[in-house]
Amino acid sequence: MTQPQTQLSEEEIKKRIEMMKEQCIFCKIAKKEIPAKVVFEDDVCMAILDIQPATNGHLLLFPKEHYMMMPMVPDEVLGHLSVISKYLCELLEDAMKAKDVSIIIANGAAAGQQAQHYLMHVIPRYDNDGLNFSLDGTALSENELEDLAQQLRARLQQGQ
Ligand SMILES: [Zn+2]
Repeated sequence: MTQPQTQLSEEEIKKRIEMMKEQCIFCKIAKKEIPAKVVFEDDVCMAILDIQPATNGHLLLFPKEHYMMMPMVPDEVLGHLSVISKYLCELLEDAMKAKDVSIIIANGAAAGQQAQHYLMHVIPRYDNDGLNFSLDGTALSENELEDLAQQLRARLQQGQ
């Protein structure tokens, strides 16, 4: 569905965010309005069992506050989530006898983000679990790599 390209007032944007929060399943879970199998919780975040797990013990870790995507999440909250994900990895390795853990963030619809609430997938990995997140593309030449690195560094310097 395409939205008409109109300029929204700040007030309208706030109103829409509020509406989004009211309809957001993860906000409702955070407020205990919808039940979930909570594994961990503190003031900032919550980790629950995914109801359609990729593997046994698949967790969803998310901030209690509503942020749609990673760029909107404050740095200190991102840092906290990262630290908690480390402990969840240890938990899964210990309690589930997971061999390793994949941590996946789908940042935006094109990246496969389905929820309107920023979250991290913490997925325990087992031998022959059938999951394949192959990230191997076509190898670039030295020149292609150098051009790309220069392009990105130049962009970073522009932003400073
Ligand atoms: Zn939400």
